[in-house]
Amino acid sequence: MPALLHPGEPVPVRLMNTVWASRSVLHDDLATVADLRAWLAAVDPDLGPEPPADEDDLAAFRSLRDALRRLAAVVCEDTREKAASPTDDAVDAAAEVNRAVAAAPAWPTLEVRDGRPHRGRPPGATAAARSLSSIAAQAIELLTEPGSADLRACYGPGCVLYFVKDHPRREWCSAGCGNRARAARHYARHKH
Ligand SMILES: [Zn+2]
Repeated sequence: MPALLHPGEPVPVRLMNTVWASRSVLHDDLATVADLRAWLAAVDPDLGPEPPADEDDLAAFRSLRDALRRLAAVVCEDTREKAASPTDDAVDAAAEVNRAVAAAPAWPTLEVRDGRPHRGRPPGATAAARSLSSIAAQAIELLTEPGSADLRACYGPGCVLYFVKDHPRREWCSAGCGNRARAARHYARHKH
């Protein structure tokens, strides 16, 4: 599951990268409810090994993912045809992000247990909805200044992933893409 190969990326980028390509074939790590539960458990260990999620949650995460990919493409001036999101309007994509943010209240609550105050969970929202809302809120930071300055599309051969440029010399989503890009350049120089 390639999403797990990029654990250093912010969670909104890991959501975008649930669409990935291998040998020019697109894959989707969020095709089923079981996929979503595995993905949530990987990105948010606080949810436990088998966080509950249903078909509505899957649809919401897929819609947010496609919206984030559309907005990342704008921010990165992404020209990769294969990476194009099915959501083609940036204003619609922003509305989707706003729906996701509102999926759960953002404020913490205080609970008294055993006579002592504890940080509580927002009322009336499922774990999946809290996660969706939190990822959408983080995405707003990532897609707007100053966070957006470091968001990049990976131009490794066939790659459709995004990454945050966390090092001045970083050009690729992964070492694998860097190696493939160098090999392709070498081949292009020497094929005549
Ligand atoms: Zn790449």
